[in-house]
Amino acid sequence: MQKLEQLYEGKAKKVFATDDPELLIVDYKDDATAFNGLKKGTILGKGAINNRMSNFLMTLLEKEGVPTHFVKELSDRETLVKKVQIVPLEVIIRNIAAGSFTKRYGVAEGTVFDAPTIEFSYKNDDLGDPLINTYHALAMHLASIEEIELIESYAFRVNDALRAFWAKRGVTLVDFKLEFGRLSDGTIVLADEISPDTCRLWDSATGKKLDKDRFRQDLGGVEEAYSEIMHRLDEND
Ligand code: ADP
Ligand code: UDP
Repeated sequence: MQKLEQLYEGKAKKVFATDDPELLIVDYKDDATAFNGLKKGTILGKGAINNRMSNFLMTLLEKEGVPTHFVKELSDRETLVKKVQIVPLEVIIRNIAAGSFTKRYGVAEGTVFDAPTIEFSYKNDDLGDPLINTYHALAMHLASIEEIELIESYAFRVNDALRAFWAKRGVTLVDFKLEFGRLSDGTIVLADEISPDTCRLWDSATGKKLDKDRFRQDLGGVEEAYSEIMHRLDEND
């Protein structure tokens, strides 16, 4: 597999073409951003951790019946993935109130929901990823109703699998963001990443935040939290 030209540099990853038009290489960076790019920094070792964690969890999800873009880990920071056309929706599942939910609705952080919630944001940095509903997504032709229903059912399946996985390791899955895409034949697969950048993960015993909120909220111990969560991932069942 040959790594060809860089197609895109995002906030957390670079994307490269390969000699196969159906495959891409993603390269995870240590760069960290928050608040739609307003806060910038570096989290040493983050790229390698996010790469490994995302690949590990996507492999687990494939076994749970959720198709993903993952093909092969190439190095510490690089992974071969199936090229998709990203569905411009950020799919957010929440088990416990945190982040924008607490601000938007005035609900105390840590409030446990009776059942998980789902919401969509329109993936558009210029607009600040505004919250939208299914009718808005359909009106803007972001996806078909069949695609949205499939995405929702995959997202809840991801939540069930990851919640159980982390619970065994003493970690509470608070919320997370997923992105889905279409393969060239239209098949919907889970894409992008699943990492402490895109999930809220709290130590179940102490409530300690083991995710990007340490960076967002200047809580300190950011690198330590990323390596702590990576150690938990490596724990056996
Ligand atoms: P951002 O674009 O938000 O700054 P990243 O730095 O993570 O985010 O950049 C990675 C980009 O690659 C994102 O725009 C993401 O939607 C896109 N992407 C993720 N997986 C795939 C894939 N399998 N095929 C095509 N694009 C992908
Ligand atoms: N999230 C993400 N990328 C985004 C927005 C949110 O990965 O552009 C993740 C975030 O890490 C959290 C979940 O989605 O795990 C819910 O985020 P929220 O809506 O509370 O937004 P935030 O507080 O991060 O602004």
